[in-house]
Amino acid sequence: MIAPMMNYTEHVRRLMSDIVSRVPRLSFLDMNRVLVFARFGRADTEGPNATCHCVCLPPSDPGYYFWRDQATGVLTRRSQWFVTKSPEVRIGAAPIDYMISFTLPRFCDQRRISARKRARYPGHPEWMAKLDTIVHELYHIDPQQPGIRRVQRADGTPSSRCHSPAFFQDVVEMVMQYLTSGPDPEMLEFLRYDFAGLTTRYGGVVATTFKGSSYPRRYVEVLNPQPDTADQQCPVEALEVPRAATHFTEEDLVTRRFWSGTPDTMARKGKVRAA
Ligand SMILES: [Zn+2]
Repeated sequence: MIAPMMNYTEHVRRLMSDIVSRVPRLSFLDMNRVLVFARFGRADTEGPNATCHCVCLPPSDPGYYFWRDQATGVLTRRSQWFVTKSPEVRIGAAPIDYMISFTLPRFCDQRRISARKRARYPGHPEWMAKLDTIVHELYHIDPQQPGIRRVQRADGTPSSRCHSPAFFQDVVEMVMQYLTSGPDPEMLEFLRYDFAGLTTRYGGVVATTFKGSSYPRRYVEVLNPQPDTADQQCPVEALEVPRAATHFTEEDLVTRRFWSGTPDTMARKGKVRAA
């Protein structure tokens, strides 16, 4: 009998739900409003293993690009007024606030685990780096306001960065807290394998991903009508805005097989059995 393939994003999602139920600092998270999806990325190329995307930020204040005369400071030209907006993502009835993407097979293989990361888990197996990443991405979600958690400088003032030594240390503490809370080892089993190992154990890897190559991203919208302001004394340039999808639903998602080589362009829609 052929073993059913494993659904990577489902496994991550199940683990995340267990983590937020056991780690008090993450208990504010509503996993119904978090979408987990996969992107294709080879293990031997540069790029993130995982990313936390916020899709619940309010629109930006209206603005425009401008050019000034260096000598006089006078505005010589400007772009049209625009705002940047988050796309609306809704899966069934649930509005999505955050999306966490995992790059496959890169995330499974983690060939570039930094010495610094290794040093945070002395005496622990290498796959702990994956659990660290999963908690790290969840910890990026700000408990107080829509957006990515802002870190504080040592003096307590907010920093524009989103990582700090304290952030990494907090993640280690939460990972340890989770592991000592007695989770079902089965929950973590899939993290032990690299991509080839998963393929051997489960017969293949499928994951939820967005159709095509696009996924929800913040986009620019030119204001219509344009505000009537004194700034319009200088020449105004039209903004070239790339076409972007602004609404996403479950219709934009597909369960697709991932391979260690090139992306599977022939999606086997509806034909995969996932474990
Ligand atoms: Zn990060």
